[in-house]
Amino acid sequence: MTNGLTDASRALLQPLSRSLRNHPKRITAALAALLLTAGGGAFAVASLGPDAADLPQQRIAQPVQSLASDATLAQLTDRPAFTLYRSEQLRSSDTAESLLQRLGVADPAAAAWLRRDPNVHQNLLGRTGRSVTAETTDDHRLTRLTARWAPDDSGNFKRLVIERSGDGFASRVESAPLTASSRLSGGVIRSSLFAATDESNIPDPVAVQLAEIFSGDIDFRRSLRKGDRFSVVYETLEADGEPLRTGRVLSAEFVNNGKKHEAMWFEEPGSKGAYYTLAGESLRRAFLSAPVAFTRISSTFSMRFHPILQKWKAHLGTDFAAPTGTAVRTVGDGVVEFAGVQNGYGNVIFVKHRSEHETVYAHLSRIDVKKGESVTQGETIGAVGQTGWATGPHLHFEFRVNGKQQDPMGIARSSEAAAPISAASRPAFDRVAALMRTQLNSAELIQQASAE
Ligand SMILES: [Zn+2]
Repeated sequence: MTNGLTDASRALLQPLSRSLRNHPKRITAALAALLLTAGGGAFAVASLGPDAADLPQQRIAQPVQSLASDATLAQLTDRPAFTLYRSEQLRSSDTAESLLQRLGVADPAAAAWLRRDPNVHQNLLGRTGRSVTAETTDDHRLTRLTARWAPDDSGNFKRLVIERSGDGFASRVESAPLTASSRLSGGVIRSSLFAATDESNIPDPVAVQLAEIFSGDIDFRRSLRKGDRFSVVYETLEADGEPLRTGRVLSAEFVNNGKKHEAMWFEEPGSKGAYYTLAGESLRRAFLSAPVAFTRISSTFSMRFHPILQKWKAHLGTDFAAPTGTAVRTVGDGVVEFAGVQNGYGNVIFVKHRSEHETVYAHLSRIDVKKGESVTQGETIGAVGQTGWATGPHLHFEFRVNGKQQDPMGIARSSEAAAPISAASRPAFDRVAALMRTQLNSAELIQQASAE
């Protein structure tokens, strides 16, 4: 159950073992603090992927770096001089000077050299969000600067290395393969899903996937409770141990209002993969609960001031706040009944589903479908806008059954689920499910330990 934690702890201890012998108490305290604070309370101790042997190594890189920049470690090391590591993300306004300053480098010669280097101009300055690590001497002079990024989907990444060489510096750009691995993390909801994932350093695409995976059971826009918690295992593509790309969520658990929901990704032979409960039930329903993907600004409101009629009116339907241009997707398979302009609705699409179910998507900035066209669940049919009677960009969505308005969440929740795991795939599924169970339990244990 706690393999990840023990492996990581062992690996953490190795590079510090010498100091541990000399200063057992201090290093233990430092290590404990590190385990509890690494990744801002999230669990940075992911070592559960298929390449588990590689992971602790990589995991160490960050914590030890952050420790190394701490003055306490300086006292713990026996060497008179030591290396400081610091990582930063490039900002659009960064100059060589401002970047070095944030990296804790005080080295005018290095700044002057960076300003002149073509590799720096081409691959660093102006590359907002690119992550850079500096290694400096204890008097803050630059010894090495490294940046890593994935330019395309080739499975390789680029590494810019600038190193001290003689009186000056030398730079080179290298290429190397990204390494796939999985990460285990979790969090507790205090205000919103994104606040919790931010706190745990979980990338946004993972937060969005979490909300989408459980969207049939949990209303992330309206029903999250303070104290709800989650664990998640997701794929990452890493460059020298630094995650550059986020992949798919492999398994997750979400406790909403005391009720536990679970999911794992599984590919049945001959079909594309999907999410199932760990017992093998499909999480896919006949209808999605929302016509736009969950985002940071997702919200709903039920009463609004009508800008044209100048009065408050009960609002039929659900509004999804989203920027103009956000993809609008049909929530279920069906046929386009109407696609065009109608007064208050502006650009609007009506989709007819089976059993007298009908959905309406209004205020669109763009319509991608025509009357009579067949659409499948999740297909993009248009884009969010503010045509018709809309005070700002949002999607007005209605779900009607026999012409009557219904709560989309309720419809989605009670709609038919896709087929469970087939009997033929059951043995393979159960093996993966057992592994996922172990990983999720580990995430939970680690989380509890960090909360104490
Ligand atoms: Zn509306």
